[in-house]
Amino acid sequence: MGTRELLERTAETAIGWLESLDGRPVGASAGVEDLRARLGGPVPAGPLDPLAVVDELARAVEPGLVAIPSGRYFGFVIGGGLPAAVAADWLTSAWDQCPGLYACGPAAAVVEEVAGAWLRDLLGLPERASFAFVPGCQTAHLTCLAAARHHVLRARGWDVEERGLAGAPLIRVVLGAKRHVSVDRALRFLGIGRASLVVVPDDGAGAVRVDRLREAVEKDSAPTIVCAQAGEINTGGFDDLDDIADVAERTGAWLHVDGAFGLWAAASPALRHLVRGAGRADSWALDTHKWLNVPYDSGLALCAHPDAHRAAMSVTADYLVQGGPGDPREPMDWTPAFSRRARGFAVYAALRSLGRDGVAELVERSCAHARRFADGVTEIPGCRVLNDVVLNQVLFRFGDDRTTDLVLRTVVESGEAWISGTTFDGRRAIRLSVCNWQTSENDIARTLRAFREAVGGVRRRDGQKNAGPRRRRVS
Ligand SMILES: *Cc1c(COP(=O)(O)O)cnc(C)c1O
Repeated sequence: MGTRELLERTAETAIGWLESLDGRPVGASAGVEDLRARLGGPVPAGPLDPLAVVDELARAVEPGLVAIPSGRYFGFVIGGGLPAAVAADWLTSAWDQCPGLYACGPAAAVVEEVAGAWLRDLLGLPERASFAFVPGCQTAHLTCLAAARHHVLRARGWDVEERGLAGAPLIRVVLGAKRHVSVDRALRFLGIGRASLVVVPDDGAGAVRVDRLREAVEKDSAPTIVCAQAGEINTGGFDDLDDIADVAERTGAWLHVDGAFGLWAAASPALRHLVRGAGRADSWALDTHKWLNVPYDSGLALCAHPDAHRAAMSVTADYLVQGGPGDPREPMDWTPAFSRRARGFAVYAALRSLGRDGVAELVERSCAHARRFADGVTEIPGCRVLNDVVLNQVLFRFGDDRTTDLVLRTVVESGEAWISGTTFDGRRAIRLSVCNWQTSENDIARTLRAFREAVGGVRRRDGQKNAGPRRRRVS
């Protein structure tokens, strides 16, 4: 079997998957035992023809695939894959560049240089900001907060790269109650544990209370990092970055922004006001696999202090070919990874295919769909939308916790849409996230219909039987 035939047949399989999205159930139909039975077994004794391998794999995994690229996948905050980005991602595997060093992939390194600068510009971040292509926002936090750790300790005369944390001044991190858990994990990796976190309550809409944050920061003169958020995962709410930047500037604290999906508001003239002041921060963590619709995985770390960023990340060894000042950018100096995938190609392709206007339009269209859904769902008896739909997230519930969970399960089992649940302020809720270029008005209409039918069904069953909900078998 030749490579040409293998790749041509594989392209057909990929195209078949993408063309099946409109008609297939959005959720997976196979359960874990079924998938283990399809895929498991002892180590294969010998080789198998590559085409047979890929055919067998594609057939075996098919019922366990979630139609994430579908316009009716609204779970978590995920995003789809723009055609140009998916195609560039295929080529990335074929090209197999290793862009840790310029010498291992000059084109990959320069594409990252260009795409990073484009992103910085689109998001209104300072021109001096350095950046790193990373697997996602989690690793972006790690990168940015390592730079923050370097910077705040250096200001106290402590070289953390040389001496480590033992005996160092204790770092304090001030952050909001509704932050994303990936921030805590990044801090943990950096030797900053829970005891060093000062948690500030939120305003009830997902944004941190700036008065309380100011008090917390001013109370103590320890080296301080403030973590703010653009886009809370349930409500899409924004911290007031401009006011928080005032606090950070006055006190000398480092301001890091978790902008995983919310920072994309900066790319839209209509929504930019939500992230006013974002450009004044010291570092930013951003996902490109979510709202930019680049295939997984892909994120960006940006830092307003290139020296701190580089000091925290760079390595040297005699065998590595690294340049001096003015030489090509060595990606490895900015990322926690050594070898890695050339993620820049897909990001470049996404940005090139959309342009400045297209990125703004994608963000605005997603938000309009979210508002359309919120308007529609409130008309269903018993439904209450819990958030002000400022962005692309809709948080809602139906009566009590039990009904909310039952309606959600019924919609997911119908296969019409996939949405995830949450517990928000102690009560069950459903959270719909729109961040896929594929989502259309028809997808929103179909999803609303699925909710109307689910609510009707739950009502009828509750009317017929006073006993608890009947268990539906999941095949
Ligand atoms: C998704 C998300 C993260 C984590 O991003 P990954 O890309 O999964 O590492 C962090 N913060 C927020 C607000 C998010 O939505």
